[in-house]
Amino acid sequence: MKVDVDYKKDVYTRAQELVSELGEKLGRVPTAAVITFGCQMNARDSEKLIGILKVAGFSIIEEESADFVLYNTCTVRDNANQKVYGHLGIANGFKKKNPLMRIGLCGCMMQEPTVIEKIKHSYRFVNLIFGTHNIHKFPEYLVSCLEQDDMIIDIWKEGTEIEENLPVERKYSFKSGVNIMFGCNNFCSYCIVPYVRGRERSRDAKEIVRECEKLASEGVVEVMLLGQNVNSYGKGLENGISFPELLKEIEKIEGIKRIRFMTSHPKDLSEELIQVMKESKKICRHLHLPLQSGSTKLLKRMNRCYDKEQYIALAKHIREEIPDIALTTDLIVGFPGETPEDVDDTIDVIKQVEYDNAFTFIYSKRTGTPAASYEDQVPEAESHVQFNRVLEVVQEMARKRAAVYEGQIMEALIEEMNENDPSLVSGRLSNNMIVHFPGDESMIGSIVKVKLNECKGFYYLGEKVD
Ligand code: SF4
Repeated sequence: MKVDVDYKKDVYTRAQELVSELGEKLGRVPTAAVITFGCQMNARDSEKLIGILKVAGFSIIEEESADFVLYNTCTVRDNANQKVYGHLGIANGFKKKNPLMRIGLCGCMMQEPTVIEKIKHSYRFVNLIFGTHNIHKFPEYLVSCLEQDDMIIDIWKEGTEIEENLPVERKYSFKSGVNIMFGCNNFCSYCIVPYVRGRERSRDAKEIVRECEKLASEGVVEVMLLGQNVNSYGKGLENGISFPELLKEIEKIEGIKRIRFMTSHPKDLSEELIQVMKESKKICRHLHLPLQSGSTKLLKRMNRCYDKEQYIALAKHIREEIPDIALTTDLIVGFPGETPEDVDDTIDVIKQVEYDNAFTFIYSKRTGTPAASYEDQVPEAESHVQFNRVLEVVQEMARKRAAVYEGQIMEALIEEMNENDPSLVSGRLSNNMIVHFPGDESMIGSIVKVKLNECKGFYYLGEKVD
């Protein structure tokens, strides 16, 4: 269901009045900060939260000393929660010095009832708590929050509404994330996401295309389509289209030069998608295909719905169809019950697929997931030994793959100035690798041809060519 946003006009007007009153009391423009933890979905949500705060009249800063601080939390690991409690302590220190300050919490961690209880009892200074399903209500919460210094809590168990047209403050002028779906139905046994983000819901394709067109008209050249499992986009939508069909629609938009997406669950990756990627001039030559483990036994326990052989066959087929594609993955080491032989299987897949890169994590028990109650948890010291084995092979493969492109000329989207050397700019290739080369700030946001002179393992040094 789409929400009618017109009623919000009054809410925004009231928010602006309250922010202006706050400014009179402070003798300056009130400041706001959104501190983001976790994944790209959260980063995108934060752009919307910042957009709303900006419309309300706040000046946006990045410090936790702001007059309004909102923590957009992640709960994918137990220690992510601890981090947030630590930050709340810092914010409370600032609030003691600035009694007009307001502190808010939102995001995945807030969907857990035990967290809410803890905050209610031990962090009484928090003003606002809301979850992942009611982010569109933030303007109203903001008004209530500015009118009183109590604790406002509103957590929804599930989300049925997808709000369009929220104001957004984009971090980059030339690239943007675009949500195409929310939630996940897969229940991988180690993952909390389906419990805190709810069931899969796809956005209407017309709304997605409209958003991309608007972004293109504002100068965005690259869109990153976001969803926990983009390959099942469209399921459950009346007259919905498939993910490959959606990609074809976005490809038609003039001004959009690059299309990326994440994340792709291997079990739902279709032949149609491979063919659409192969034919496309705009879809980037990069596919992130999480493996998690190469052991069929563990994949079953993880509830991943594919086995080692199926995954290898799929990856090899993709490489045959699109030879210049970069394949990256996620790996978990130390999942309950994992033996050195299971890790041998993971290493075997890494060698056969030759990943361009892999994010390797040591399994961390996540309270509330089935795997957390498995009895055969792997001792930490053993996980570290196996992690190092895996990392070594991942790095060897990544170096091998990167070396293939040395000396070639490729297009790079210039994203920023190099952090260490002000005479260099940093650009991203279609295959997601980074190249540093001489340039200046005026080039940021443009796509240029670059010769990859020297491969430095995980990045290149290059030069712009005409
Ligand atoms: S696909 Fe699995 S790992 Fe990914 S969000 Fe869904 S449950 Fe979590």
